[in-house]
Amino acid sequence: MTGVAPTQLRIPYVIARAEEIAPQPLTFVRRPLGGLRLAYADERRGDRVNGVLRVRVLNNRRGAPQWRKLNTLRQWRCMVKLLCQVCGQAATDPAIGRTPWIMTDSAFRELPEDPTGGLTSAPPTCWACIPEALATCPQLRISSTVCTVARAEPAAVLADMFTPGPGHGALHTGEHNVEISLKDEVSIRRALATQLIVQVHDLQPAPLEFPLTDTDTVAS
Ligand SMILES: [Zn+2]
Repeated sequence: MTGVAPTQLRIPYVIARAEEIAPQPLTFVRRPLGGLRLAYADERRGDRVNGVLRVRVLNNRRGAPQWRKLNTLRQWRCMVKLLCQVCGQAATDPAIGRTPWIMTDSAFRELPEDPTGGLTSAPPTCWACIPEALATCPQLRISSTVCTVARAEPAAVLADMFTPGPGHGALHTGEHNVEISLKDEVSIRRALATQLIVQVHDLQPAPLEFPLTDTDTVAS
């Protein structure tokens, strides 16, 4: 990746920007029922969601795009409100009551207990933005399927992991992008969430067809 984007390329809604970095005054605090829990020294509303501490970022969309990084607030918002990760508008198609979603090999995992669902860390993409998303990301064209889902609910997070240090300090363990189930009450106490993972239900192939590659040939 050169870091230079084609001039025509829209910066997707979820992509982090250079001027959105915020201080992280992390500490460990003693819980009322015993044990330590990762916290902010000045914890405020919105820091803790679904019981997990969330990395602090600004939401101003200023500065150079950080193409490999997602803005945690906007990624989370897309997942909970089913907004398009490219344009930020509602992704659900009111005509069918379902949400279009590009499922990639790297961001989707099937669940043995849910044959028509699975887990994903990538937000949905609205119909209008799907052709652009597939055209501008070669990887998507190779290893993705355009689907629709009936509904989605928070299931897990990707997180950086911390351990108590001297005093009340919090030391990064060096673990990034660790998947922690929202039911894992023990690990969640040491996690700083960067992305929300949702469980999607009733996954179906999209009723539209998209070419996989420019060089596709039809077998005769
Ligand atoms: Zn869109």
